[in-house]
Amino acid sequence: MEKGQDILRLDAGEPDFDTPKPIIDAAKKALDDGFTRYTPIGGLPSLKEAIRQKLRRDNNLYYDSDEILHTCGAKQALFNACMTLLNPTDEIVIPTPNWGTYPSLAIMAWARMVEAPTRYEDRFILQPEVLEACLTEQTRIVILNTPNNPTGQVYSREELSALGNVLLKYPDVFILSDDIYEHLNYTDEPYANILNVCPSLKNRTVLINGVSKAYAMTGWRVGFAAGPVDLITEMEKFQGQSTSHTAAVAQKAAEAAFNGGLDDVHNMVKVFRERANLVAEGLSRIDKIDFHPAQGGFYCLPNFERVIESLDGVEDDQQLGDWLLEELGIAMVPGSAFNAPGHMRLSFAADNKTLEKGLDRLHKAFG
Ligand code: PLP
Repeated sequence: MEKGQDILRLDAGEPDFDTPKPIIDAAKKALDDGFTRYTPIGGLPSLKEAIRQKLRRDNNLYYDSDEILHTCGAKQALFNACMTLLNPTDEIVIPTPNWGTYPSLAIMAWARMVEAPTRYEDRFILQPEVLEACLTEQTRIVILNTPNNPTGQVYSREELSALGNVLLKYPDVFILSDDIYEHLNYTDEPYANILNVCPSLKNRTVLINGVSKAYAMTGWRVGFAAGPVDLITEMEKFQGQSTSHTAAVAQKAAEAAFNGGLDDVHNMVKVFRERANLVAEGLSRIDKIDFHPAQGGFYCLPNFERVIESLDGVEDDQQLGDWLLEELGIAMVPGSAFNAPGHMRLSFAADNKTLEKGLDRLHKAFG
């Protein structure tokens, strides 16, 4: 890398926005009002009510209070569900490429991860016949994630419905629907999860969501799980003996986020959508890189195989990650971290100037 060249960070896993002011104000008020003590394990009743209303408003789904558990981020909701559902020898089906935490859930629960591979040619969308081939007597959980980290792709209603039709045939399998990027959807279709297209799976589906990505609240650590009451009750017991709950003040902030309407979310989504286009335009000018334009989240997962072939001394995406940092001053996460060798995850949780510079450097090197 030329001396003095700045490092362009295209590797962020969180929005580069600040938490909206009304949410910060609500948190300050909560502290003044004395929200400094233990809360119920499931969450403050007012937070659970806000989550209930959010699920009605945004997802057209109806839950009772005892079907909802607040958690320390979506991550803990996933962890609670896996620790509660999985026994050793059980299998958890994870479509690949996958977010890095999913395999660890299997490991921590002593269960077996079964990879359900997706293909670049299918936009990394899980095909029903692949899902079906992964399901066995031991399958306990299938994870679905749309919009997807790391692929940036969004499942259409038809694609979800095809998976739902398979899952209907396997009544012992639970579905964890990781909806954390729900609002960051740049397709023309409204967001849909598996329950929107297959409501009869409700008694064995857990919706996982939270405030981290949509409200730029990653550090507040508030997520939730919504699912069948028996399972939610068990997950709550597990949480009661581990973290208990997230900070009372963070719960009040999340409550304000859910109750505060979607104006700030829409403003942020507008910026992300523009950046998704900017990245797509920039990458389409680069000969050696194939990609699908991001449809959601803030990630794109371009295929760098032809770039790797063209570089002496670079054998795989991990070495390419080092090379890009050293030679071009660009930080991106190698696809191997997501079971996507040969790819790099480009995050557009970065300002336009950084993105333009990064795309320019890539174009100069590989265009
Ligand atoms: N699910 C996916 C697919 C993610 O990418 C992330 C964060 O990167 C999470 C869940 C975790 O969300 P939280 O910060 O609410 O724990």
